[in-house]
Amino acid sequence: MRTIVALCGGVGGAKLALGLDRLPVDLRIIVNTGDDFLHYGLPICPDFDTLAYTLAGLANVEQGWGRAAETLAVQAELAGLGETTWFTLGDKDIALHLLRARLLAEGARLAPALDDIRRRLGIRCAIWPMSDHASPTLVDTEEGVLAFQEYFVGRRCTPVVRRVRYGAGVGCPEALAAMTSDRLDGVVICPSNPVLSIAPILAVPELHHALAGRRAPALAVSPLIAGRAVKGPTAKIFAELGLEVSALSVARYYEGLIDGFMLDEADASLAPAVQALGITPFVAATLMHTDEDRVALAECCVDALRALRS
Ligand code: GDP
Repeated sequence: MRTIVALCGGVGGAKLALGLDRLPVDLRIIVNTGDDFLHYGLPICPDFDTLAYTLAGLANVEQGWGRAAETLAVQAELAGLGETTWFTLGDKDIALHLLRARLLAEGARLAPALDDIRRRLGIRCAIWPMSDHASPTLVDTEEGVLAFQEYFVGRRCTPVVRRVRYGAGVGCPEALAAMTSDRLDGVVICPSNPVLSIAPILAVPELHHALAGRRAPALAVSPLIAGRAVKGPTAKIFAELGLEVSALSVARYYEGLIDGFMLDEADASLAPAVQALGITPFVAATLMHTDEDRVALAECCVDALRALRS
């Protein structure tokens, strides 16, 4: 069985991760933990949680985050006690945060704690955090430096971004082992936000070094289609950072770290420009509405990695 490592953020990344998880591959996902924070003392890992809920079939797909069929009794009680909560805490979601809090309080590193949780949720593939240590992403905006969730949820990404600062903690040993394994057949960078979801992973020095010195090919899938993000602030942030808002710009962003780049069919005309960067272009339908779309794109990625290896 092929061993594949996928670098993943939240919603966009989780869609492709689900497709890859349905294939007969040995999948190891490295997830961004730059968004992690404490809320009411509970350790929250937004990208891991979105990924885990998606892979376990528990995600609220319409909403784009949290659990399906969620209830808000705890949040209503907090409101009754005069608390204003800017970060929605569903009851089922809180159960997961409580379990994680217990595992960490008993001394577990983050990686084994998340591994325990994903097993309890019946998830087949391995999921490792980029780091066991707090590596918070800070967003330097025209209104000052904001903690990630303050920017993303509290301010709904409205402040203009000038720079993003990454935590760059020590790499998680299991994530590093996956990246440097002799059995590795390829790396897929999922169509996550390059600046907010993938760059925090690549800012972990050991992981960056492992990808830069890779022996197996790496392929990134564009989160921008026809110059637009499917969802979220990727296009807005690219523009604010002075980057061209296009799939080609995403390929440039990963230059030196990827061998192949998956463009959407709508961007097929960019293939020669991607090739000119020394990156092999591939074209597929990358908009994932259904699980069939997710599996089909995952198959295209595995085929592309095979082509890059030969
Ligand atoms: P977040 O951490 O929850 O914001 O999620 P990610 O960083 O993983 O994903 C956000 C990115 O996913 C955005 O740039 C979207 O354009 C992209 N995205 C979402 N759905 C799709 C899709 O179906 N296809 C592609 N190609 N990109 C997608």
